Amino acid sequence: MRGKRQFKRFLLAVYRFFTVFLLVAFVTTCCMMLFVSTLSETLGITLTRENLNAAAKLTFWNVVLISLLLGLLYELRRRLTVERPVRRILEASQKIMKGDFSVRIPQPRLGSDESFGEIIGCFNRMAQELSGVETLRADFVSSVSHEMKTPLAVMQNYGTLLQAPDLPEERRMEYAKAVTESCRRLSDMISNILRLNRLENQQIYPKAEAYELGEQLCECLLQFEQVWEERGIALETDIADGVTVCADAELLSLVWNNLFSNAFKFTGVGGTVSVSLSADDRFAVVRVKDTGCGMSPEVGAHIFEKFYQGDPSHASQGNGLGLALVKRVVDIMQGEIDVESAPGTGTAFTVRIRRFPDEHPEKNR
Ligand code: ADP
Repeated sequence: MRGKRQFKRFLLAVYRFFTVFLLVAFVTTCCMMLFVSTLSETLGITLTRENLNAAAKLTFWNVVLISLLLGLLYELRRRLTVERPVRRILEASQKIMKGDFSVRIPQPRLGSDESFGEIIGCFNRMAQELSGVETLRADFVSSVSHEMKTPLAVMQNYGTLLQAPDLPEERRMEYAKAVTESCRRLSDMISNILRLNRLENQQIYPKAEAYELGEQLCECLLQFEQVWEERGIALETDIADGVTVCADAELLSLVWNNLFSNAFKFTGVGGTVSVSLSADDRFAVVRVKDTGCGMSPEVGAHIFEKFYQGDPSHASQGNGLGLALVKRVVDIMQGEIDVESAPGTGTAFTVRIRRFPDEHPEKNR
């Protein structure tokens, strides 16, 4: 099949050569004859028919030979510097189409058009990005399946135990609570996955409305009142008055709820959680600090990844999606989030958000 195609291309090249170069040879010979006859008339030289015939043949075949040589050289150069990289790009694209993202194209050797180098560079970067996305997708699917299995297994086990006919009332309550708790975990995880998915696919467009950030922080904090009272955690607040922001309140409440929930979750009995809000003309800065278990730099490097849980002792109280959501929301709002932490001393998250939507986002990048 390929040989047939190549033969066809060869025939086409020969046809092109004959139509173009023979015509050029013919026209050049005619011009040459005209020139020779004008020259001989001007100089008063008489040329015989044989002289003219010989000159015409010489010119014609010379042009044919030289153009043939040049044509061959051109064809050779085209094959090496144009056809070869194009063929490699085509073959690699076909592999990508079949789902093989490991393919990379070697950079063309010297002599090729520079644009091929650029196209191949872009292609390799695209293949690298795609293989990264594919790995993430595969990791995501396996993490979701793994995370779902645990609560499902708990529900199945306790559901089976609940079927025992002579189960004491106390046990029945205990098992029913375990089933309800697993349902809650599963439902939390699914809502977080859906939110994250919608945020990543940009199906959520922030709705900017002006409101007081301090009030929102207090409302979110109050939801944890029972937790801090039960565990004897001291709450310190330093919330500046009248800090208005123009942002999506619902999205931002996700950030505060997750940060507060982590601060209370990782702080032991008798610890302290501090929340502060300060602002300048353009930015509002919220700092959530705790005196909890803290984390090592190795854990800190991964906390914004989906399903990452650095502290296994609290794993059942979360699903490793909270901070991934927080980061996504902060990014969407063109804000910044930083974490300072050390094992045993506690953790502080600092979130910086724009108070008003940016009219010229490019300027501030
Ligand atoms: P989870 O809901 O499982 O806590 P997150 O995404 O909220 O998941 O947090 C990821 C990991 O970051 C946690 O498992 C924990 O190791 C670490 N982490 C987050 N906040 C804190 C904190 N305030 N103190 C100590 N470790 C924290």
